[in-house]
Amino acid sequence: MMRILLLGGTGDALKIARQLGPDHVYSLAGLGKVPDDLACAVRVGGFGGSAGMARYIEHERIGLVIDATHPYAAQISANAMQASRAARVPCWALRRPGWQPQDGDAWRMVDDWRELSVLLAAFKRPLFTLGREPLAHLDDIPPHQFWTVRCLDPHEGNARARILATRGPFTLEGERALFSAEAFDVVVSKNSGGSATEAKLEVARERGLPVVMLRRPELPAADREFGDVAELLGAWRRISS
Ligand code: NAP
Repeated sequence: MMRILLLGGTGDALKIARQLGPDHVYSLAGLGKVPDDLACAVRVGGFGGSAGMARYIEHERIGLVIDATHPYAAQISANAMQASRAARVPCWALRRPGWQPQDGDAWRMVDDWRELSVLLAAFKRPLFTLGREPLAHLDDIPPHQFWTVRCLDPHEGNARARILATRGPFTLEGERALFSAEAFDVVVSKNSGGSATEAKLEVARERGLPVVMLRRPELPAADREFGDVAELLGAWRRISS
């Protein structure tokens, strides 16, 4: 039996974890909800870098690492590759494809917060769907702007910012209602891919709004890469049968 270390923190990782029996381990950073209804073991918290993960792999006799972390969680993906090399076990990765702009979309690509804030100066009511990063900049909001920041963590807003602490999936109807109530003039997003948070892009398209998209980070090549959960589980079942 090949013991799996599954690195998660995404809805897709949870789908994989639900297929794993008690011999396998699902690992979470500890920032979000920790499921308590899984058959597999769950561990929470960092390993202490790639060296710590390599020690864990060896100590726990892991035979396969599966990186199903978020496409913007570049550090843990790099650690997974280094650790599995050091411990001489294969590393598979779920690499969810990004969204593609469609006809009529006005995406503007940025690499970092500095580029983003220059581009945003022309707008008044951005909707941020980048996670928690904007929370560190709430004191720097220009007087002509009012921000809506949607992220998982509850956080206090201020006179120029409202925080919507909520988690997807988000429906088209819900996004339409939010956009019409708040009159956003730009959407700021990661190119996460998948269907759970895609509706905002459809509503931006319907309303002719620009989207500022944070470019995906470079991720290391894994030993095998899969575009979706079914493909990955199929490959695992083939090698374990
Ligand atoms: P990151 O920058 O790539 O990782 C930072 C550190 O967190 C890692 O070096 C590792 O600590 C620990 N870590 C991350 N994922 C872990 C896991 N599955 N199990 C054990 N330790 C983990 O990651 P991040 O961008 O902060 O994201 C943290 C977690 O949230 C990830 O698991 C990711 O899948 C999930 N997530 C991220 C985003 C996003 O936009 N970044 C969105 C949705 C979900 P050590 O070095 O000490 O091992």
